Order: sequence, then C-alpha cells, then structure tokens
Amino acid sequence: MAESPRFGTVFAPSMGTMSFDGSSWSDPAVVPVEAIPMHPSTHALHYSSSCFEGLKAHRDPNGGVNLFRLDRHVERFAASADRLVLPFPGVEAVRDLITETVAANLDEVPNPPGSLYVRPTLVGTDHDIGAAGSPSRTALLFVLNSPVGDYFAGGVRPLRIAVETDRPRTTPQFGAVKSGANYVMALGVTMEAKRKFDASQVIFMPGGQLNETGAANVVLLSEDRLITPPLDGSFLAGVTRDSLLTLASESGMEVEERAVDLDELRAWVSDNEVALAGTAAVLAPVGTLIIDGVDVTVGSGEVGPVTLRLREALAAVQVGVSSNHPEWRSPVVKN
Ligand SMILES: *Cc1c(COP(=O)(O)O)cnc(C)c1O
Repeated sequence: MAESPRFGTVFAPSMGTMSFDGSSWSDPAVVPVEAIPMHPSTHALHYSSSCFEGLKAHRDPNGGVNLFRLDRHVERFAASADRLVLPFPGVEAVRDLITETVAANLDEVPNPPGSLYVRPTLVGTDHDIGAAGSPSRTALLFVLNSPVGDYFAGGVRPLRIAVETDRPRTTPQFGAVKSGANYVMALGVTMEAKRKFDASQVIFMPGGQLNETGAANVVLLSEDRLITPPLDGSFLAGVTRDSLLTLASESGMEVEERAVDLDELRAWVSDNEVALAGTAAVLAPVGTLIIDGVDVTVGSGEVGPVTLRLREALAAVQVGVSSNHPEWRSPVVKN
C-alpha cells in the first residue's frame, strides 16, 4: 500500500478515458497511464478550454473503498464543461468511468489518513489555432488517480495568509468554474504575497468583501457559529464547504451564509477562528492574517478547537468511521 508521497506527484497505474469526435463519445476505457499525444494546435493549449474535478476515495474500516460525494463532484464537472462550451458525456457515464478507474487502482488506495485523490479532467482537442472565437467540437476526458498521504503529515499547523482587497482572484462570471485558467489568474498575487509576507496563500476580498483563496473556501468559526459567504457564482461552490455547513448545523452550530467585510473579519479574528476548506486539506487553520501588510493574529494564533472538531467530524464521515451521511459515500467495492 502506498504511503505519504507528496501531494499530486505519484500516480496510480491506470487511468480512465473517453473521447468525443464531434458527433459521439467513445466507449469508456481504463488504460495504463501514459503520455497523451497532442498536436501543437490543440484548442485547450491555446484557448484554455479545460476544466477538472478533485475528489477522494477513502478506505473504510470494513475493507471497503468509497468515493466521497461523487454525485456532487460530477454535477459540478458538468457545470464547468457547460460554462466552457465543452462537450460532456453525461453525469452517469462520468460517474461510471470514475468508479471503474478507482476500481482498477484499488490496491493503490492508502489507509486513512491517506486517500486516493481522483482528478477527472476535460480538455478541448480540436486542432485549430483559428478557433479563438469558437468552442472545441472534440474533447478528451481522462481520470487520473494519485495516492496521497496526510496533507498535514507532521501535524496540523496554522497558516499565514495574506488578505488582498484590491485585485480579484478571477472574473465574477468564471468564479464557480473549476478551470486551470482561474488558478493562473490568482498565481501572480499569491507569489507576491509569498515573497513579501512569507504567506502561503491569499484570501481575496475584492471590494472589501470576503470571497475565497486561490483554491479553498473560507469559513469563520466560533464555538457556536459558522459564517461564510453565500454562493453567488463568484467563487467555487466547494463540496467540502457544503459538507461542513451540513455537519456544523447538525451539531447545533448556527450557520450563516452572508457577506463578510474587512471590518467584520478584523473584529472576528480577535477571539475566534478562520479556516480554509477544500478536498486536499479538508479544513486548514489560519493562524495569522496579513492585512494591509500588518500581521494580525487569528485567535490564539494556534490551531483552534472548533477547526479541529469539524475537521475530525468530516474526516470520520469520509472514511466511514461515523455512520453519519452514508449517502455521501459511493462504494467502489463492498467487503
Ligand atoms: C476545488 C476548489 C475549491 C474546493 O472545493 P472542494 O469541492 O471542497 O474541493 C475551492 N476553491 C477553488 C477555487 C477550487 O478550485
């Protein structure tokens, strides 16, 4: 069984593929991971017609392997494809392809806290550099699997995060699309924050309103409350975010989806918690915010108890240690 490789650099041997030739989808296939030959004029390489998903398969205590919230991820994948005007084979076919790919790589699923990270990707493959104003008619969908260890191997540590109130993460109309183009747009700002402030990420607050980081949603936490911005299309509708909101509410916390401005964020961190939510890290504590170039300690500056509690509650559901929300786990094999 694989153990703790660096996130995203080690791949399970099999990948799922399907392709669209402009009129029909090929049969799904699970093949050895290998280079994909691409003509230099491939649409995605020039016009960023590409999107992806990121979900995980976890081992449960009974020897089963389950994909966490497969339906939600595939629905979001379909929505991203639609926004990029890319062909999509249908949610059922994609769910099946993802499940078959993980089944082929079953031996590569690490034990908890490790998991198998699953990366479905869709790219426009037309050979046409003249297609700046038209969508790709052909497409390739592949599902890559990567065994990952504990994101916080060596312990959960609080992050240093810079707050950016001027430049946005991406455009408002593409905020909810899981596309590489959104990531590169945030990259320059993030690299600047690394260089200037030794920050690991940036919380974007364009116009002074809380949005998200380059790759994770932001939640404000206290003993009895979870506050996060409402889904308005300007940021990614995280499945982790949705799951945490549900679990927090069920545990008796007040869940508020509403706008948060800089003044409220400043006041909040004096004795509360802030954390980042996403599939890779689950829930990562923020220890310091850098606001207008000045360090502002979040709560004690250490990992907060509410962050830890919610993180553990979600992890327990993901690996099936908790019997809560069985509908969130799609079995790949049953014991
Ligand atoms: C994937 C992603 C997230 C987190 O979404 P999850 O479904 O929780 O993994 C948050 N923000 C951005 C920009 C993302 O691409």
